[in-house]
Amino acid sequence: MKTFTIDTKGRRSQIYVGRKMDELDQMIPPNAIIITDRNVDAIYGRLWEKRHKIVIGMGEKNKTLATIDYIFSRLLDFGVDRSGFLVGVGGGIVCDIAGFAASTYLRGINFAFVPTTLLAQVDAAIGGKNGVNFKGFKNMIGTFNQPEFILSDPFALQTLPSEELHNGFAEIIKHALIADAGLFGFLQDHSSALLDLQPEAINHLIVRSVEIKSAIVNRDEREKGERRKLNLGHTFGHAIEKVAGISHGKAVSIGMVMASKIALQKGYITQGQLSEIVALLQRVGLPVEIPVGATDLIDAIYMDKKRENDFVHFILPKGIGQVLIEKITIHELRKFIF
Ligand code: ADP
Ligand code: ZN
Repeated sequence: MKTFTIDTKGRRSQIYVGRKMDELDQMIPPNAIIITDRNVDAIYGRLWEKRHKIVIGMGEKNKTLATIDYIFSRLLDFGVDRSGFLVGVGGGIVCDIAGFAASTYLRGINFAFVPTTLLAQVDAAIGGKNGVNFKGFKNMIGTFNQPEFILSDPFALQTLPSEELHNGFAEIIKHALIADAGLFGFLQDHSSALLDLQPEAINHLIVRSVEIKSAIVNRDEREKGERRKLNLGHTFGHAIEKVAGISHGKAVSIGMVMASKIALQKGYITQGQLSEIVALLQRVGLPVEIPVGATDLIDAIYMDKKRENDFVHFILPKGIGQVLIEKITIHELRKFIF
């Protein structure tokens, strides 16, 4: 097992990578309440059969204030007071919702996460961002607040549908492009072992991703500067996710290709590097072609909450393993993609 620490103004949060889900029960207080979704409850529910639980539906469509309303009602039914403790067990959606419910119920009670998708283990559960969508805008309502701990068990991924596995690879490739050419090479060399969930290879990916993301969050929790790098592929990605209705990981994959193409036009990467990025994404089962019209994309970006006046902080690869943060106007973006 490897332990990482996120140390922010709010609190100190531990991330345990490679710890068994069976140990959860002894790590949480007797009054802890489990928040999970129907799939995860059906597979792992025996681990919390003696506890109160709140089970929500699957998918992004449940990431709403209505679900939060439901959770608050159940917490009231259970008589949860300020000593309450919530545990989100599931993918990124469950963690985002559980973290937001815990951060706002009675002005905040303690909580923990057990991420059970690759995407949540390497990305979504880490960093203290939580929240829900609102009127079609992603993550529009939420807080920054770190859990007490994150327990990340790679064996949980054995039951994950392969589509979901592919989604996680998108964020791992993102971390490699941002900060670690060695990780990029590892992904290239071990792609079949990784798709087969070979434990050592998968464990290495999770450890390295958590290391990269937690270091960035420790330096810039509130996304005033360096944390913006983690948005590589996400300006286009969020727009594609919204307009084309495809999963987050797939949309980010296409978004990273688009950012890489802009980087090529600006001379930050070579044609060879662009081809390597595209080939790696395809090898791990991710799409690379834009599935929607450019006008719809630009309109969606325009509405994105990260827009500041007329420009976005756009993240561009610089070679493999580094990125640049550039202010790009919507007008310039339009020029690049038309
Ligand atoms: P993400 O982490 O990609 O945001 P979600 O929270 O939407 O993902 O979860 C993706 C899907 O995978 C959901 O339908 C969820 O119920 C399911 N799921 C999560 N973890 C597991 C697991 N370990 N085994 C099987 N299915 C899982
Ligand atoms: Zn993402």
